[in-house]
Amino acid sequence: SNSHEIDIKQLNAIARKSFPPCMLNVYNILTTQHHLKHFGRLQLVLFLKGIGVKMEDALHLYRSEFTKKLDGDKFDKGYAYNIRHSYGKEGKRVNYTPYSCMKIINLNVGPGETHGCPFKTFEPNQLSKFLSDNIHNAEPGETREIVELAKNKHYQICCTKYLQAKNPGIKLNSIIEHPNQFFELSFSDGNP
Ligand code: SF4
Repeated sequence: SNSHEIDIKQLNAIARKSFPPCMLNVYNILTTQHHLKHFGRLQLVLFLKGIGVKMEDALHLYRSEFTKKLDGDKFDKGYAYNIRHSYGKEGKRVNYTPYSCMKIINLNVGPGETHGCPFKTFEPNQLSKFLSDNIHNAEPGETREIVELAKNKHYQICCTKYLQAKNPGIKLNSIIEHPNQFFELSFSDGNP
């Protein structure tokens, strides 16, 4: 499905450059709060699998973050199985597909949960800050336009504009339908 291998040591830089907001958000929470609830873990791990992160590397990432707050034993017993399972290495060995935008947008996000699409789940102020933190030299008008589009529930158009603001060289003739499509477009674009 993908032709590149992801060097896990570069994942921080890769995330900042090329993860769509839904994945950058859960990745940031994993690496700063050292925990993610069930659907956040699932949303991220299936995406990582889709971009070419090896299962061992995904396990290592989750383990090294979770065990900043949790015993290694607890991680191995409570969480490792699910990650292997998402990679199809446990249970029925189903090859689970990374979630599409429609799936992520329509997920129910309860209190304290951080999965979902930030264009839908973030408050306008939070979204505005996220945009100016992550778009280099964001024009105030650009940020405002995206926040307005989000209020009007045009989440995938927001995401397409966000991608174009980060990677002005990319020519798109359709809107973003899938986080892994976002990633491939951004990652293969040479600009930082
Ligand atoms: Fe993720 Fe899709 Fe939302 Fe973009 S529109 S943040 S890719 S769910």
